[in-house]
Amino acid sequence: METIAAIATPHAQGGISVIRISGDKALDIAGKVFKPLSGRDISEMKGYTAAYGEICDSDGRLDDGVLLVYRAPHSYTGEDTAEISCHGGIFITERVLSACCAAGAVPAQPGEFTKRAFLNGKLSLTQAEAVADVIEAQNGQFLKCCKAQQEGALYRQIKKAEEIILSFTALVQAWIDYPDEMEDELDGGIEADKLYEALRVLDGLLDGYNEGRMLRTGIPCAIVGRPNAGKSTLMNLMSGTQKSIVTDIEGTTRDIVEETVMLGGVMLRLSDCAGIRETSDRVESIGVELMLKRADESALIFAVFDSGRELGAEDMRLIDIIKDKNVICIANKNDLPEKADIALLEKTFGSVISISAKESVSAEILAREVKQRAGMGSLDPAAGFIANERQKKCVTEARDRIKSAYDALLSGVTPDAAGVMCENALDRLYELSGERASDRVIDEVFRNFCVGK
Ligand code: GDP
Repeated sequence: METIAAIATPHAQGGISVIRISGDKALDIAGKVFKPLSGRDISEMKGYTAAYGEICDSDGRLDDGVLLVYRAPHSYTGEDTAEISCHGGIFITERVLSACCAAGAVPAQPGEFTKRAFLNGKLSLTQAEAVADVIEAQNGQFLKCCKAQQEGALYRQIKKAEEIILSFTALVQAWIDYPDEMEDELDGGIEADKLYEALRVLDGLLDGYNEGRMLRTGIPCAIVGRPNAGKSTLMNLMSGTQKSIVTDIEGTTRDIVEETVMLGGVMLRLSDCAGIRETSDRVESIGVELMLKRADESALIFAVFDSGRELGAEDMRLIDIIKDKNVICIANKNDLPEKADIALLEKTFGSVISISAKESVSAEILAREVKQRAGMGSLDPAAGFIANERQKKCVTEARDRIKSAYDALLSGVTPDAAGVMCENALDRLYELSGERASDRVIDEVFRNFCVGK
């Protein structure tokens, strides 16, 4: 395999840049580009050691920097690896990479370092996918899950299911080979019970899929309420910026304003929707329709009521639409004399948060509530989660095949038929972990990576 090189840091000006070289000739190539000040021979350097020195190309000295050496198999890729850190200028960094290529390296493809780690058995395919997710993570909760995944959380779950299925297929094989001896050994009911355990593992993963997706992109939330209840003010409070137009004239928030915010350590994708109101103004009525649709699609709704006004027909209509959903009910404007029927809101939604969206301390009250209501939920990082559509497809197909085998065993179908279904399920799981994935699948996974990872 050729020795590859790439810039591992972003293509931008910064403090330092890192050029990574991996492959049999990594140290050889590094030796042509990097001259340790100590005069030390790079080929003699041990793994996990560093040297300070000069970086040169055919024109002479380019920069000074640090070389880090990793020895196979104790490196990210499992190959000999050298990392050169230089000053973080775009021009310098590109020159250092060119020097490495002139010395014999070939430019790496996107994700090629991680692909080599996978091909060298350092990572499963799901762990490799988790590496990309760790890089993309935008909030602490998701990062925690991705790190667990990178350490094999999902892989271990798949292995658990695989072991159960494998022990069943081995038994079926023995039954086919030695039918007389195995007659008493293979009880369809008992084996179905065991397969049920595998089914539970896969169902558990599928159940957590939406939660995992929400952790990645933020929980879709809608802020709803009649015009002037204080939705835009609440949105501004939560996002800490002046995004929505706040005025005293009813119906000023016509379009849906979207914002991703962190509140109580939870990432929320907030939509401030137009006030709920039947109106002759076409622009606004489109906004109202959008709000109702958005409320329907949201996993969490912030319903805002003006506690300084009696609940009107519009409020009652809103209550009716959202009463069975996941709602944080907010009685806003608690600085004004209370006129709204708070008891009715409490009865409908279980609890009511009484705040003034104009007071910054209200953000903390909301953050506490959000943390409680929309925190990590049932998603345990150590339990692994399905992180993308590819994984979901493999798990779903494996699950469906095991379910068929389970049903077949219970209905008294011969074990060999159930065995074939289980073999098919195993194939799907091997594709998931990458143990038996086609080149096309593998290329697809790594195509989405950045160069240098
Ligand atoms: P929206 O139509 O629901 O988006 O409502 P806005 O956020 O535009 O607010 C309508 C009006 O109520 C504005 O004049 C706000 O300044 C005011 N308002 C919002 N929150 C409060 C509050 O907690 N107390 C008081 N007294 N006024 C508020």
